[in-house]
Amino acid sequence: HHTDVSVLGLGAMGGALAGALVKAGLRTTVWNRSAGKADQLVAQGATEAASAAEAVRASRLLITCLFDHDSVHEVLDPLVDDLAGRTLINVTTTKPEQARQLAAWAAEAGISYLDGGIMAVPSMIGQPGAAILYSGSEEVFREHAALLDLWGTSTYYGEDAGLASLYDFALLSSMYVMFAGFMHGAAMLAPAGVPAGRFAKMAAPWLTAMTGELARYAEVIDGGDYTVPGQQSLEFSNLGLFIETSTEQGVSAEPIAMVQRLIQRQVDAGHGAEGFARIIESIKHPAA
Ligand code: NDP
Repeated sequence: HHTDVSVLGLGAMGGALAGALVKAGLRTTVWNRSAGKADQLVAQGATEAASAAEAVRASRLLITCLFDHDSVHEVLDPLVDDLAGRTLINVTTTKPEQARQLAAWAAEAGISYLDGGIMAVPSMIGQPGAAILYSGSEEVFREHAALLDLWGTSTYYGEDAGLASLYDFALLSSMYVMFAGFMHGAAMLAPAGVPAGRFAKMAAPWLTAMTGELARYAEVIDGGDYTVPGQQSLEFSNLGLFIETSTEQGVSAEPIAMVQRLIQRQVDAGHGAEGFARIIESIKHPAA
């Protein structure tokens, strides 16, 4: 690698990203708003910049891993003149709209911009399981592919800078609802004296096996025909007994009741005989 790189933001994630670059022998300049967070990296061979401006001027390639969209502007807006002609890879979590806004801001300032969404926790950076999603400048992605691969599996999703964030949020949304479903199951069992740990041992292989259904649902959704044979119908998917059992166990039925509402809207609209995948229509067309 012959790239000089500056990393701005040395929190849990920024520190891990910078660490992987230093370990790979890249000339790495680091900066953090509050003092102390660069010490370990400096001991490993990084150079600490005294200011964000100094970090920007040190390298043609800049990585930002700050708290949120506003903090990226707070750090970079005053340095817009120094930034012109440089490359910015921003892996701070932002909404798709905020990523697009940053890309437009960068274009205006003459900065090449790539947005990243990190699908990993800091300890996973540089390990096989880490994936990072990118969108924005394809040229930046290609030029720095070797560097990006030091952090994890890097995949490029297109010129629309908001796409990486959109995929990121789609994955995390599905994860949170799955976790809430696990919590609901554990809560139902708790009054029967079943420890969550015992349920987790059952739920993990069960949910893993059920992910086999995702591709089948996707086929129905992409085909646009919810009447194709071989599917479980919405009427058959009535979750009333699960809701009643939750109540009888003295726990909240909220997670499963949410799914029942999505089913019910399609049944009410006369689609009860169609497949379960049709609940996506309840989501695509929000209730008034
Ligand atoms: P931390 O809270 O550990 O670090 C936040 C960093 O942002 C610190 O360096 C902090 O500086 C800096 N910062 C916050 N506000 C400002 C500001 N106004 N001006 C300058 N610097 C600022 O968070 P993480 O490192 O965990 O997360 C960083 C980003 O990475 C976030 O967007 C997060 O969503 C994303 N991410 C994190 C993951 C994780 O598992 N940790 C997973 C995926 C994405 P200071 O030290 O001075 O407070």
